[in-house]
Amino acid sequence: MATKGFEKPSIKPELFFKSSVEREDEISKIFKYNIGSLTNSEDVRYMSQIRTRIAPSPTGDPHVGTAYIALFNKCFARHNQGRFILRIEDTDQERSNKKSENDILKALAWMGLDWDEGPDKGGEFGPYRQSERGTIYSAHINSLIERKKAFRCFCTKERLAEVREKQIKNKDPIGYDGQCLNLSEEEISKNLEQGLQYVIRMVVPEEGECRFEDGLRGEVCINWSQIDMQVLIKSDGLPTYHFANVVDDHLMNITHVIRGEEWINSVPKHLLLYEYFDWEPPAFFHMPLLRNPDKSKLSKRKNPTSIHYYRDAGYQPQALLNYLGMMGWSMPDSREKFSFEEMVSEFDIQRVSLGGPVFDVEKLDWLNGKYLREDLSDQEFWDQFTDWSFCPKRIGKIVPLLRDRVEKFSDVIPLAGFLFGDPPVIAQENFNHGSLSSDECLEILQLSIWELEKIRDWQRECVESSLMLLAKKIGLKPREFLFPLFVSITGKPASTSVIEAITILGLDLCRARVRNSIMILGGLSKKSEKALAKKHKGLCG
Ligand code: GLU
Repeated sequence: MATKGFEKPSIKPELFFKSSVEREDEISKIFKYNIGSLTNSEDVRYMSQIRTRIAPSPTGDPHVGTAYIALFNKCFARHNQGRFILRIEDTDQERSNKKSENDILKALAWMGLDWDEGPDKGGEFGPYRQSERGTIYSAHINSLIERKKAFRCFCTKERLAEVREKQIKNKDPIGYDGQCLNLSEEEISKNLEQGLQYVIRMVVPEEGECRFEDGLRGEVCINWSQIDMQVLIKSDGLPTYHFANVVDDHLMNITHVIRGEEWINSVPKHLLLYEYFDWEPPAFFHMPLLRNPDKSKLSKRKNPTSIHYYRDAGYQPQALLNYLGMMGWSMPDSREKFSFEEMVSEFDIQRVSLGGPVFDVEKLDWLNGKYLREDLSDQEFWDQFTDWSFCPKRIGKIVPLLRDRVEKFSDVIPLAGFLFGDPPVIAQENFNHGSLSSDECLEILQLSIWELEKIRDWQRECVESSLMLLAKKIGLKPREFLFPLFVSITGKPASTSVIEAITILGLDLCRARVRNSIMILGGLSKKSEKALAKKHKGLCG
């Protein structure tokens, strides 16, 4: 295939101020590609406005990385009197779930990162949930197939595996070999009649390079030979991230895409799609990824990453937001404590520095302490503290645990203090046990966390059955098995029910405590963690 060769796509300011005539023109072009029936031209108004978005996939806990990217998008939009959109990217049906979507929405709102348009709020460019945009994607993919920019691929999994194996053996670049690229109309019809499964892939130049401008990094150049003929529509008929993301960014009039640097290698595919549709691409900015203090990519193995953790551990959302604002960005006067509004008024995306910003919980603690000291009156401090610790839902679970075990109110704090704050400092000796070695304790702790992470419905019964089943599989009596968990969660070898405590504290606080104990027990090397993961798979599947 001939090389298309990309013109360096410069982002023209006039793009944001297209007249309605020009816009209509663009829409009639879309009509030509037979997708106009789904585009109500009256609804599509080109906004002479900057529009940014956060596009989370609801597949897990609300991650601080999502809040970090949302913050920069919202700040950029607000600084430019623009709009900030939330779009749910839930085309991966197996991994997406409603609970995760709700959690993400709630967590972003808790942090003050609310949006102008989104699935819960609506807006002119909805629906804002990709699973509700199926007809839009079908119409767009048909137009690409008609124009031979996309093709049906009937290759079986086995064939693709064989091709891959061969490529690895020959040290060739890994990717689709183009087998179905030039199937004749007859061959395609025959395959369709036979009901053969297929995916739809995009046509990608074989040679040459794609050059594009990243707003933070300058010109980036990626060879087309490194870009696979990306699947756009999967065999279940659903779009992949790349296709849905580009179609939606265009139809939602997103002008600036600010996202994590892990997406930079996807830009050539995205730009090619913009070109195939004859659409003007947005400006791209790829933010540096958050890092653990050891500079590895921020991960829950080493740092709490869920926004729930910071909420449950009693952080101020303003402090967390401020801290995320310091990740790779600084105020012109270098002050470290600043509000969202102050960040908006001083915001300049060119002040983002590309060195991997380190998310350091100790530094966050320092900043959070400043918020508590400087921004809250005694009354506000007390009100917020009691809201956090004594909210009725939580207390309703704690009181029944205590009543049977105390004789006077002064017994309450020593017995239940660990439910309100960190447990007493523990040391390796606390894990000394008649029959369990410290390696066994370590193993129980790690396996327990992996099993607890699988729980979808965080109820006492589920926590209990998950841990008891694990005890059985390891071949330990419940009391023995629970010992390291007692020490790590409550700070004591025995206390009120540890299962209740785990249920009340929630996964994120428990994970942080267990991780702390694992470190006290000497930590898990990469190699031993791998071996343990294998054992876990063998035991629990
Ligand atoms: N759904 C993608 C994610 O969760 C969005 C990436 C993008 O912003 O393009 O990271």
